[in-house]
Amino acid sequence: MDRALEQGAALSVAPPPDVELRSLVKRYGETLALDGVSLAVHAGEFFTLLGPSGCGKTTTLRAVAGFVEPSAGDVLIKGSRVNDVPAHRRRVGMVFQHYALFPHRTVFQNVAFGLRMAGVERAQLERRVGEALELVRLPAYGARYPRELSGGEQQRVALARALVTRPAVLLLDEPLGALDKQLRDHMQIELKSLQREVGITTIYVTHDQEEALSLSDRVAVMRDGRILQVAGPKTLYATSTRARARSSWPASSEPRISCPCASSQAPRWSGDGRACVRPPPRAGPAPR
Ligand code: ADP
Repeated sequence: MDRALEQGAALSVAPPPDVELRSLVKRYGETLALDGVSLAVHAGEFFTLLGPSGCGKTTTLRAVAGFVEPSAGDVLIKGSRVNDVPAHRRRVGMVFQHYALFPHRTVFQNVAFGLRMAGVERAQLERRVGEALELVRLPAYGARYPRELSGGEQQRVALARALVTRPAVLLLDEPLGALDKQLRDHMQIELKSLQREVGITTIYVTHDQEEALSLSDRVAVMRDGRILQVAGPKTLYATSTRARARSSWPASSEPRISCPCASSQAPRWSGDGRACVRPPPRAGPAPR
């Protein structure tokens, strides 16, 4: 076959990105929350939106979920435009900073909620809730109420609840923001390994540069409703280091990326050069 034709055939079968945003604009009255955001997140990717408070991260995530209606632009999930598809039909799972568990329902009932809404029959529902709790390492917690759980455990239940419906995309809005530093570090490691295990396409929102660098395959740096740069952690770190060395670099456009290892030593990168290798958690019992 002609080489160009062969390449064309290969290109034509490439799957669309799992999530694609095309020139997304969101206005709240006078406020321009999103000013033309375009990005593509690929299958299995851990993609992070990083930027200071108010730059448009949550608005972007909520537009993907279907909780925010764009003023202009398109949201595509697995190649289909979903602007007019309601949130519960988009096959996304979302986890918020403040867990949002139902306080008067048990862990089992919280995790089962989405399946019950979808009319899944009892035996299958019990099996899937059991699997989801197993996945987040809380298999024996079904009968507890949220008030009987630590912050870390509540966040794991929220994760199980998001994953149990087998969404196409997992959306995480500062999910570790309410946890103390030690627990957050521990949960970062757990979250990353769980994401790898499930292989689910994930969009993560944080203002924490260390978190973005250690978790992500790629990071979009946002400012004032725009994306300044999309890159892997290593590239981002290098760009930032070069930028700091260049006095003419305008401060407003510098991502100011630091790395967890950077204070005392150069960052260490995983074999594929994508994620900074965090020091292993300290010995002793895992924080809850
Ligand atoms: P981030 O998640 O990066 O902190 P947001 O996406 O929450 O930023 O907000 C982006 C901008 O949009 C901010 O200026 C914020 O005040 C504004 N905004 C967000 N939601 C609303 C809303 N419901 N009504 C009015 N303004 C909003």
